[in-house]
Amino acid sequence: MSNINSNLDWSNLPFGYIKTDYNIRCYYRNGKWGELEVSSSESIDLHIAATSLHYGQEAFEGMKAFTGKDGKVRLFRWEDNAQRMRNSAIGVRMAEVTDEVFYGAVEKAIQLNTRFIPPYGSGASLYIRPLLIGSGAQVGVKPAEEYLFVVFVTPVGPYFKEGFKPVKMMIEREYDRAAPLGTGSIKVGGNYAASLNSLYNAHQKGYASALFLDAKEKKYIDEAGPANFFGIKNNTYITPKSTSILPSITNMSLIKIAESMGMKVERRQIEIEELSTFTEAGACGTAAVISPIGQIDDIGTGKSYIYGMETPGEVSTMLYKKLQSIQQGDEADNFGWIKVVDL
Ligand SMILES: *Cc1c(COP(=O)(O)O)cnc(C)c1O
Repeated sequence: MSNINSNLDWSNLPFGYIKTDYNIRCYYRNGKWGELEVSSSESIDLHIAATSLHYGQEAFEGMKAFTGKDGKVRLFRWEDNAQRMRNSAIGVRMAEVTDEVFYGAVEKAIQLNTRFIPPYGSGASLYIRPLLIGSGAQVGVKPAEEYLFVVFVTPVGPYFKEGFKPVKMMIEREYDRAAPLGTGSIKVGGNYAASLNSLYNAHQKGYASALFLDAKEKKYIDEAGPANFFGIKNNTYITPKSTSILPSITNMSLIKIAESMGMKVERRQIEIEELSTFTEAGACGTAAVISPIGQIDDIGTGKSYIYGMETPGEVSTMLYKKLQSIQQGDEADNFGWIKVVDL
């Protein structure tokens, strides 16, 4: 481990990839996980017939570590990321990463790259990317017999450079991201491949993201690309219930915080028309915590749902601040969500 300061301009970091010193790898062979391996290479040596390349046997996770005022480095609900990665593995018939391997690799990746952990107050954090792929060769359509689990880290700036500001979204009517009984509820690359045209088109038209509808009836809001959706009205936090959305850990946490602040919470289908009754709307996920939505355009019908592009709503702001201060250690963690990393 090197203690030389990485000399990064913490306050102006992009939300992108920056090379760090080490990453951690672990192979599943002959029915069991091997030892954690430390690597300083940014590449992996992969068989040309690996199932991840041909048949999409791939899953990933995303989490962040924050430095607190007290200098401690905190992880947020990592047990849920470990569990979700197992659900993803089961969903595309991969070997499940054990807690021991998952926690061990994440901790080691942080410990060996401490000089890349952004300081308190910079607005930046250390993004952690666990990745599980079928590395074994198959030509017939079959699950691999060998898997590779990788954890790399990279320091990232805030997701939106402009800060906590409302964004515009458009309702996607051209493509579906996931089928009702498909892979929408697991964190696999295939869902992202299926969403790239929508996101590209949305960006081309000047929108921050596309808002997907349920694939079957095209009647209900599903989620916003890589983030869950919520609406606010009558002191109630409302978020879609659907078999094709990814269970966001940020969303689950906002639900708990909303309840603890005396709000009602509803997880149910949200019809497109109901968008006109919300006083606030937002997208949530690890990357941005909350992106307040200022306006949703439904190009298909010509309707717009407007919440205000000037300033984020009061409730969204409160939820955002509360969750962020727990994650950064500014506020006591009464939910048992924080894990302090041994450095
Ligand atoms: C990762 C992800 C989210 C956000 O989940 P968090 O656990 O809050 O980061 C939302 N939707 C999709 C499709 C995702 O892949």
